[in-house]
Amino acid sequence: MPRHIVCLTFDFDTQSGFIARGMTTPTALSRGEFGLIGAQRILALLKAHGIRATWFIPGFTIESHPRACEAVVRDGHEVAHHSWAHIPPAQQTRAEEEADLVRANDAIAKLTGRKARGYRSPSWDLSDNTIDLLLWHEFLYDSSLMGADYWPYRARRGDRAELGKPYRFGEETTLIEMPISWSLDDHPHFEFLRTPTAVLPGLQSALTYTMHPYVIGRGYRMLALEGLLKDLSAAGAVFMSLEEAAAEAQARMFAPPSS
Ligand SMILES: [Zn+2]
Repeated sequence: MPRHIVCLTFDFDTQSGFIARGMTTPTALSRGEFGLIGAQRILALLKAHGIRATWFIPGFTIESHPRACEAVVRDGHEVAHHSWAHIPPAQQTRAEEEADLVRANDAIAKLTGRKARGYRSPSWDLSDNTIDLLLWHEFLYDSSLMGADYWPYRARRGDRAELGKPYRFGEETTLIEMPISWSLDDHPHFEFLRTPTAVLPGLQSALTYTMHPYVIGRGYRMLALEGLLKDLSAAGAVFMSLEEAAAEAQARMFAPPSS
């Protein structure tokens, strides 16, 4: 009997993404602050449905809003890695990326008692070093790539993309990729954002499984999320944290053949 596994994930950015983009006026920061209210509502909804989820929490949020993060831990959700300062790895040197990774992992260990097993990059843009660093720091899974939709796969390193030459896959690693998609993220659908280089329209009707408390936490969106959870439950969905789903994928899909 196939199971419909559902992993709800919440990227608890609060103000970090705005600060990383240089958007530090009071109004911009207040948008991130709303994530604290959104998170309370989401935790209450998840508790009412008995659902455990995965919260990707930047070190910034852990150190700025410790009580809000303790509530996530207290309710039994997985806390996974989402950088310290919400700067995309593609914009960092290897040394900068690793320093940020270690600092955020220390904050998670202090909050939860153990280091993160899962990683999601800010703004979903890995560097050429990220997979190496995640393996070195003993992560189980990444959730930043789009090479599949509902099927976990092994993350590769050393792919070669050169203009005018055929594409070459690099080696598969032991890191499990839990793939994502912008079309399954609440931010582009719901949240208007104006930056120096782009305008994201937002305000479209859709519902997704990658969510931000400051986006999904608004009233009517919470009603839509509640409706989705009810529909999924009625259809027999099994809710898991990403860590549990990645561990299951590792055991069932990627285990070495028994001799
Ligand atoms: Zn984020």
